[in-house]
Parts: sequence; C-alpha cells; structure tokens
Amino acid sequence: MEKNKPARRDFIKLSALTLGSLTLAPLVNADAKPFKPLKKVNTGGKKLHIVCLGAHPGDPEFGCGGTMAKYSGAGHSVTFLYLTRGEASDPNKTHAGMAALRTKEAETACKIVNATPQFAGQIDGDSILNKEWNDKATKMLAALTPDIVFTQWPVDAHRDHQVTGLLGLTAWVRSGRKFDLYFYEVNTGVETMAFTPTDYVDITAEQEKKKQAMFAHQTQDPVNTYNNYFKPLEEFRGLEAGVKAAEAFIHFKAGDKRAGIIGL
Ligand SMILES: [Zn+2]
Repeated sequence: MEKNKPARRDFIKLSALTLGSLTLAPLVNADAKPFKPLKKVNTGGKKLHIVCLGAHPGDPEFGCGGTMAKYSGAGHSVTFLYLTRGEASDPNKTHAGMAALRTKEAETACKIVNATPQFAGQIDGDSILNKEWNDKATKMLAALTPDIVFTQWPVDAHRDHQVTGLLGLTAWVRSGRKFDLYFYEVNTGVETMAFTPTDYVDITAEQEKKKQAMFAHQTQDPVNTYNNYFKPLEEFRGLEAGVKAAEAFIHFKAGDKRAGIIGL
C-alpha cells in the first residue's frame, strides 16, 4: 500500500458519506407535527362481546392479543374461536398429540388475556371453505352473539388464514352485517400481504401481557417469532399511530356506517 494514497476501504467509506449527506439530509423534519392521539370510541357503558376468529392457536394472540387484553381489561368479554387445534404443526408428532399440546398452550394464553377459548373443529393445514362450513361458521358466530368480530385478513400466504378470513367475512354478510367486522394481520410481509390499516389500537400498556400470551405458545418458537417479527411490527404500527406500540386493523363497514367524501 502506498503511504499517501487512501486505502480502498477508506475511499468507499468517504464516498458513501458524501453521497449520504447529499441524499439523506435532512433526516428529520423539525416542522412535522406529532400525530393526534388515537380517538376513543365510547360505548356508552355497554359491555361488549368480542369474538376473535383465528386459524390456529396463537393467531388471535399474535395478531391482536394486545387489543383483546385491552378489551377484557375494560370489562368486555372476549372469546377466541380457533378454526383448528394446530394439529399439523410438527411432522414428527401425531395430530392427536400436537392438538393436545397446542390446545393447552391456547388455554394458557387465553387465561393471560382473559379470553374464553373455543374450537371450531377443522384440521390444521386442511381447512375447508365450502357451503357447509360457511353455514357452520355463520351459526357458530351467531350463537356467540358478538358485537364485534375480528378475523384474519384473507390476503395471506397461509391457506388456513385465507379460509378463516373468508369464513368470517361470509358470516358477517349473512348476519345482515349485524356486528362490526375487523381484519387483523399476522406476520406481515411473510404471511399477511397487501394490508392497509384503517384503525389502530394503542397497546403500549398491554404489550407485556400480549408478549406473555405469545410466549405461552412454546411450540411456536416464540423468542424468534416475537423478536424478529411481532415486536418490530408492533413498534412500526406504533410509529404510524404516534404511540410506542400498536396493533392495526382494517374495519369493514356496513353501508350506513361508511363515511362520505368530504364536501359531497
Ligand atoms: Zn396461523
């Protein structure tokens, strides 16, 4: 190496910095206004029944465990309706063995967020979307008389999640759109796709409880799943909502609840 000539590594570093100062500054817009705090929708003291539909044990907890803990903490009742018992999640175990294990994990998680678990009776990896199941899911949800149903966003890489989302959507349509319907996301970028939230829930105070509910699912590699997927997502949705941690939803609205376009 010649003494007065910069090493190639230094040259690269220098040019990157120069380029950086040209393209990236200013990084922060000092004039930007902070987000408005999230609006609380008043129920007028009415206690609600919330049903959260998920394909597998863990989906309601990972997708909206913070929101569900917030509901139960506010005195509302919460039911998690799992389409399957996660039977197929370990090829080295029998369906019956895995179902028993994951049912136990779901029950533990439900205790943490104060939800009641129910199982719809479909089989993991083999979920069915047909007329019979549309009827069954509609009846199951109607029997629970929910005020609000949360279900999975059907544009998802996992077929069971697609089926769960669509069973919820059809049940909502057939109920005469009697309850409010929200879609939730799981593992966005890997499973959930094309998800543009309409509403956010601040889960800063419930983040730890949600983490405990997720960690109840020991078969689901919770350390990796939480640290690399769900924690960053909670923080990213928090940035969008102007809080430390948030969960995001798509609210499907019946005709009379849709907002008009301002000025028309
Ligand atoms: Zn799932």
